[in-house]
Amino acid sequence: MNIRLANRMTRVQPSAIRELLRHGADPRIISFGGGYPDSSLFPLEQLEAVYHASIAGDGREALQYTVSNGPLKLREQIASRMRKDGVECGADNVLVLQGGQQGLDLVAKMLIDKDDVIVTENPTFLGALIAFNPCEPRYAVVKMDDDGMDMDDLERTLKENPAAKLLYTVPDFQNPTGVTLSRERRKRLVELANRFDFVILEDTPYRELRYQGETIPTIKSFDTEGRVIYLGSFSKILTPGMRLGWAVGSEDLIQRLGLLKLAADTQCSTLNMAAASLFLDKYDIDAHIATIRRTYRRKKELMLDTIRRTFPQDVAFTEPSGGMFTWLTFPENFDTTRFMADHALPEARVAYVPGATFFPLEQQVNHARLSYSTHTDEAIVQGITALGRLLTSRRGA
Ligand code: PMP
Repeated sequence: MNIRLANRMTRVQPSAIRELLRHGADPRIISFGGGYPDSSLFPLEQLEAVYHASIAGDGREALQYTVSNGPLKLREQIASRMRKDGVECGADNVLVLQGGQQGLDLVAKMLIDKDDVIVTENPTFLGALIAFNPCEPRYAVVKMDDDGMDMDDLERTLKENPAAKLLYTVPDFQNPTGVTLSRERRKRLVELANRFDFVILEDTPYRELRYQGETIPTIKSFDTEGRVIYLGSFSKILTPGMRLGWAVGSEDLIQRLGLLKLAADTQCSTLNMAAASLFLDKYDIDAHIATIRRTYRRKKELMLDTIRRTFPQDVAFTEPSGGMFTWLTFPENFDTTRFMADHALPEARVAYVPGATFFPLEQQVNHARLSYSTHTDEAIVQGITALGRLLTSRRGA
């Protein structure tokens, strides 16, 4: 049978990298490829209590349909957390989402027609490209350094693409590089958005996982014209399986996104939203986040120290002050995809995500993303040491 698919399906393809990462499921392989949070940090007892309390007694409400944008109480709780983070907003500026990922899908649907230009960091979050691609956009990319997107390069890109409609950024501890956009650049980014008339999608699920240094204000907090849509998530601070995130934006944009959400899935799970709301009411989520931070900070330092001790000098790595990832840069002709298939997996039994997949346009082959979030301290040392030894021995060969 030859089914006549929609044109957009040419942009919806499985990635070769996924195949390679399937080896990560082999228990003999230490995979630094995944982006999962550490499940030992899920607050199980507290979650059991709030799920139970949500349906105990006359819990019919938590099992009924509810409003599409999310219950008022939860939107108020989210708005209150956002205000503490310096974002002026109320419940009507909040849309509860099926994870931050849904925000990527809905914002693209709201703004992007075929061949419209989306500007992204280079490299950028693969899941965003996967969400945007069905809208058949063109991409324009911006160079990055240790302070995130290079604003001069962005201005040049915008002059080349004056009709660009949307800029996508992960400003805090970016996935995949781990770098953070500086305060000055955030201000300049908003000025450029006003001047060139585009929307900024600020996607920041790792924002609360800062391990050192001072918090930098959100891009949204510099927004003067209602052009920034902020995406947050409970995935990294509570659990990803609840599939809860949120968007904050102008009432107008939030209403429009709410209509698209209605079309997509009616609403998030009433039960999960009830449980999250009760959790925020009954427990101190900031104390819980502080525990997560301590654990990831230790793992990050262990990974970076082990890299320093065991990797050849010509491999550079980022030193993130939060989040879950470091980004490796090898000499230019070093192909990390081939190296993983031919050597890292069979010889060191270690996996990572080859970097090529994170580049929307010209794929650079000499990078890799490592995540330190899920493994034990022992596995981090063992896996990174094995990779370091392999790299060193191959250099010597
Ligand atoms: N944005 C970025 C940068 C991410 O890394 C992720 C998760 N890996 C998401 C969005 C989506 O997360 P969720 O849908 O679980 O909130």
